[in-house]
Amino acid sequence: MREALSSTELKRHFIASATRAHFGLTVSPTEQCNFRCTYCYEEFVLERMSAAVYDALRLLVERTMPTVRTFSLAWFGGEPLLEWQRVGEFTDYCRALALTYGVHMPPATVPTNAWNLTSERLAYLAASGVGDFMISLDGEAAVHNQTRRLLSGRGSFERIYRNLLEARDALIDDPFRIILRLHLHQENQDSQRRLAEQLFIDFGHDPRFVVHPITLGDFGGPTVHTLKLLSGAQSAPVEAAIRSLFGPGRTVDLEQDEHTVCYAAKPNHILVRPNGRLAKCTSALGRDDNDVGRLEADGTLTIDADKALAWSFGFQTGHPDHLACPYHDKPAVQPLRFMRSIASA
Ligand code: SF4
Repeated sequence: MREALSSTELKRHFIASATRAHFGLTVSPTEQCNFRCTYCYEEFVLERMSAAVYDALRLLVERTMPTVRTFSLAWFGGEPLLEWQRVGEFTDYCRALALTYGVHMPPATVPTNAWNLTSERLAYLAASGVGDFMISLDGEAAVHNQTRRLLSGRGSFERIYRNLLEARDALIDDPFRIILRLHLHQENQDSQRRLAEQLFIDFGHDPRFVVHPITLGDFGGPTVHTLKLLSGAQSAPVEAAIRSLFGPGRTVDLEQDEHTVCYAAKPNHILVRPNGRLAKCTSALGRDDNDVGRLEADGTLTIDADKALAWSFGFQTGHPDHLACPYHDKPAVQPLRFMRSIASA
């Protein structure tokens, strides 16, 4: 349970989330994936982004960059690195424009299953400005392979781990960080503890590798019920043990740090899907209330403001869970009134 925010904190988060001086862009280059993890909620509907949508995206960034002070780019999928060259090219393009206009742009982030993350591709992406790679592990090989499977049903642990070791050993000049998301459910806690010990032996001396223990959630996938999920309180002892093994500088807690306000709740953040449709939440791609507009060919955004701002209802309720993840409790579309009332409070 997250602690309630004071009205000062709420207002500070609202200003940061609504200011026009920042623009947050998440891009999904494809919704396809070479994996079929047993808890995945994705529907794998859309194919790769077309050249026309990339052209429009570039125009969007050209329009936006002169008007902001900070710009963030996150990739999403499917498996984004099925399109690793596009990911590198577009990130590099944004970075060059940010430099031109003196805009602060932190390294881009990408979640990846790491199947295709060879050390050469990692080096290319790091040189292009992709800095954070989020890679999920579900336990030691036999346990991981039960849930993180290829489309064929084959397990994936061995190749992912080999790629991680190669990433550690390769001579890569540009900075990067690999965030190892250690998913927890009722039946893999012991295995994750042992895996964490192995990871500490293999990567503990390399500050580019950090761990992020986290409970698996239910975002509606068709087979997530085959797993016994944990509540946050139930997983706390294992999370604490893994955090204490790696120490404070080598663990991240995205929920507590950057995600006090989820990107879906931020009015100044948008997701562009491969077909140019706009969304707020990456976990609700099939929901009509998450289909909030479209990217036009000239790089402008046509947004249904009521629909989009309904994802920011946590600023009205002030409930920290509604800000951290509006997915579960979000009510139907709400009017804009509350945004104005907070802004003027
Ligand atoms: S790798 Fe990610 S997108 Fe692909 S099936 Fe697994 S959870 Fe879903």
